[in-house]
Amino acid sequence: MPVTPFHYPFAFVVSKLDRRLILPGVVVGAVIPDIEVPLMWVFFPSLPDHLLLHSLIGASTVGLLLAVFVTRVFYAPIISLFFGVDKGDLDDACRVTPALVASCLIGVWSHLLLDYPMHWYNPILWPWVNPFDVMGPLVQFFIVSGLGLGDAFWMALNLTQGAMIVLWAVIIAWYLNRGLWRNHWLGRPAEAPSGPFE
Ligand SMILES: [Zn+2]
Repeated sequence: MPVTPFHYPFAFVVSKLDRRLILPGVVVGAVIPDIEVPLMWVFFPSLPDHLLLHSLIGASTVGLLLAVFVTRVFYAPIISLFFGVDKGDLDDACRVTPALVASCLIGVWSHLLLDYPMHWYNPILWPWVNPFDVMGPLVQFFIVSGLGLGDAFWMALNLTQGAMIVLWAVIIAWYLNRGLWRNHWLGRPAEAPSGPFE
């Protein structure tokens, strides 16, 4: 995984791809899969620390449910408390609607998409395909270039994280003088329901 918060910039960009997407849902979805990592360390230390929530099947079911729950219950109070974004607007955006569910789903998929190229094993098709048979293409690239597995993973990880840091800096610079936190955490103001997701 890139350090979990570095999934934010990618999620932000993804949320801009379709105006029906709801930023809070995409953002929460994009960080949710990593909650399994410390849990695996504690409860299943003999198993890979990326497993259920980093698989397409697990992310699209358990991960999706968790993301919808966390968005609905925790997003508005936490973001309004720490960033001063209007709680009513956040709460409105985090209502459980088909658009929010779709946004959470796209968020968890965005997590898998960002993790996949830079990770040396991927449970993306678990339980049908052994995670250790699925090496990310960026890691493969560095191995073909002559690095050992450890160094190849390190390069892929840091390249990905570096790109996300640059992207995040661009996002913050872009909105700095135009409602930074509102744009950063709420995205577009909640709009009247429209479109097939609604
Ligand atoms: Zn991850």
